[in-house]
Amino acid sequence: MAQHFLLSRQAKSLNLAQVFRMSDAAAESMFRKVRWPATDGEPVCPHCGSLDAYDCRRANKAPRYRCRECKRDFSITSGTLFASHKLPLRCYLAAIAIFCNEVKGKSMLALSRDLGLSYKACFVLCHKMREAMAEELKGREIGDDRPEAELDGAVFGGYVKPANLREDRKDRRLRKHQSGKRKWVVVLRERGGETLPGVFRSEFHALSWVKHRVRKGTVLHADEASSWNDLHARYEVKRINHEQAYSLDGACTNWAESFFSRMRRGEIGHHHHVAGPYLLRFAQEAAWREDNRRLGNGEQVKRVAMLALSRRQSIDFCGYWQRHLD
Ligand SMILES: [Zn+2]
Repeated sequence: MAQHFLLSRQAKSLNLAQVFRMSDAAAESMFRKVRWPATDGEPVCPHCGSLDAYDCRRANKAPRYRCRECKRDFSITSGTLFASHKLPLRCYLAAIAIFCNEVKGKSMLALSRDLGLSYKACFVLCHKMREAMAEELKGREIGDDRPEAELDGAVFGGYVKPANLREDRKDRRLRKHQSGKRKWVVVLRERGGETLPGVFRSEFHALSWVKHRVRKGTVLHADEASSWNDLHARYEVKRINHEQAYSLDGACTNWAESFFSRMRRGEIGHHHHVAGPYLLRFAQEAAWREDNRRLGNGEQVKRVAMLALSRRQSIDFCGYWQRHLD
């Protein structure tokens, strides 16, 4: 029997012992190479683009550079997702490694125990990593180089607990007895290719997004939900009736189902509550994990670090707790 990828040597290209053994200088040099790959780690001023900068450390040895052109100071993370960072760079590397090692998602409380940080710091850090992962999905079109794609939706959130006594229980299928917080995650997934999730009020509301993101000429596979009927006018759609079979005559939505399987396990096992304002971020995290599941963890860490350092400051999470004082 073929070995599972996660058991293979290729899956384990970085371990936490290596990260914690790293000196401050080694972590700094690694982050520099990730931030400025074109100059092999030589600093480039984020304000004016000049290459003429010199080392101008703070008294506490925190790395800073000063640009000779515009005379302004900057750090390795200035203008990126990790801007104004407070922790040593090694700690960020460890956080990314721990986050990537969990294949279904990492609990933010568990990360705070792993690293000895506050829950708030980990909450923001994990959301910044999700934002970095989402960068890879930006503007993605489905069916670019794969002719077949799958489409499916699943409900998240809005659970209404049944009353204790039988006579007090209400019919929770009726809209008036629902909480109104239910959301749909709809996923588009190329067979053997890329994944793209979206969040909507219902599957019907996803139709124009699907038409916008799926290239013409792609063969779509979907289940029997009536929400997808409109797509027949634009695409060849193969339907699978899950009451009859999970896969029949080449029609199935199993690739889409494995995305939901990963996301649901992340929800149940780690996050518990995903259907708030950041549901899309959790879905994008699951999509990234699906697409990169066959990469070694060292490569995954490098990829997330690269995405974080090439993305601008976070809109949602830069100074988050200053704005959300509890
Ligand atoms: Zn400058």
